[in-house]
Amino acid sequence: MAAAKPVLPGSIIGVLGSGQLGRMLALAARQLGYRVHVFSPELDSPAGQVSDLEIVAPYQDQDRVREFARRVQVVTFEFENVPAITSCTAAEMAPVRPDGQVLHITQERLREKTFLRDRGFPTTPFRRIGSLTDLETAVREIGLPGVLKTASFGYDGKGQQRVATAADLAAALTALNGSEGIYEAFVDFEKEISVIGARTLTGEFVAFPIFENRHENHILDVTFAPAAIPNALAAEAVELARGILESLEVVGLLTVELFVTRSGGLLVNELAPRTHNSGHLTLDGCVTSQFEQQVRAICGLPLGSTALRRPGAAMANLLGHLWIPSTPAWPAALTDPDIKLHLYGKSDPRVGRKMGHLNIATDSPAEAVRRVVAARHRLTPIG
Ligand code: AMP
Repeated sequence: MAAAKPVLPGSIIGVLGSGQLGRMLALAARQLGYRVHVFSPELDSPAGQVSDLEIVAPYQDQDRVREFARRVQVVTFEFENVPAITSCTAAEMAPVRPDGQVLHITQERLREKTFLRDRGFPTTPFRRIGSLTDLETAVREIGLPGVLKTASFGYDGKGQQRVATAADLAAALTALNGSEGIYEAFVDFEKEISVIGARTLTGEFVAFPIFENRHENHILDVTFAPAAIPNALAAEAVELARGILESLEVVGLLTVELFVTRSGGLLVNELAPRTHNSGHLTLDGCVTSQFEQQVRAICGLPLGSTALRRPGAAMANLLGHLWIPSTPAWPAALTDPDIKLHLYGKSDPRVGRKMGHLNIATDSPAEAVRRVVAARHRLTPIG
């Protein structure tokens, strides 16, 4: 295949989706001299605030999608739940990277897990659930405990029920509200890690250091790098990610969320065809951030070094509850001069909403976690 021409600085990048991932992508793109047009379902979005143009329309409005894509040289997305038709329409006008097929597979858990299993990538056993009979059969075949999830549009643990006993089945199914579900065997994992890989049109592949992730209420709380795992397991995780990006023929970034099992094995939990919350520490911790890497990968530029600048880096999420009763005390966090504050320009700090994050890069991952969590603690009177 003839190599596609690179999309050079000065060109316009179109972004479908307008949250914080789009915002940080737009900032990285502008640093490289690109212009950015954002397609947003809402006005004054986090990405729209820092872009050259914010087109405000529902994703279903194909005329506006066409108008948006006609004016840009490449389209990417920061949110995988855009309707398939939207990426198809955009693709009539400009290359969409990663392409609609990657989006199609990764926006639905059942399709994603089936894709992975059929190609030999390790996942926890799972079954499609459309009825109580399906659920009873699945529980019989793969056992309890398990997790029942909606097949599509789930994130941060939304639409997820733990099923511990046979008595939980009916209630868990009711919580799906009639949507198709997926039942998975519960993984008694030792830890959760993620690998963010980038792949170019020519097949060049580069991964970031492995991130180790800690969740609170199913939402990412703290990430650090490098993950505290043996080198051999880290290498295995990178090869797994490489294999998945190659199978999907990703051009752009893809995040692989993994469980490390108690026996030291790896299971893929989920894929995201984009940058990821766990990669936010790359902004201050790595030579190239995940957002710059996304720009390089979709534009056909050589990929950047993902090396850590310091031996350890960490990130702590800032969720909406920190704004209760009042705006966090930013200067208190910044009394540690190595702390970097990132805010997403959101005006409505709802509980559980991702409003920003703190980063640090320092002498060890343990010290990075300790200092970033201490800085977050100082933000509110009760810590
Ligand atoms: P997800 O929305 O699939 O990424 O799930 C959110 C979080 O729920 C994960 O990061 C895990 O902490 C937990 N989780 C999801 N699936 C399972 C599973 N099969 N076994 C154990 N924990 C799970």
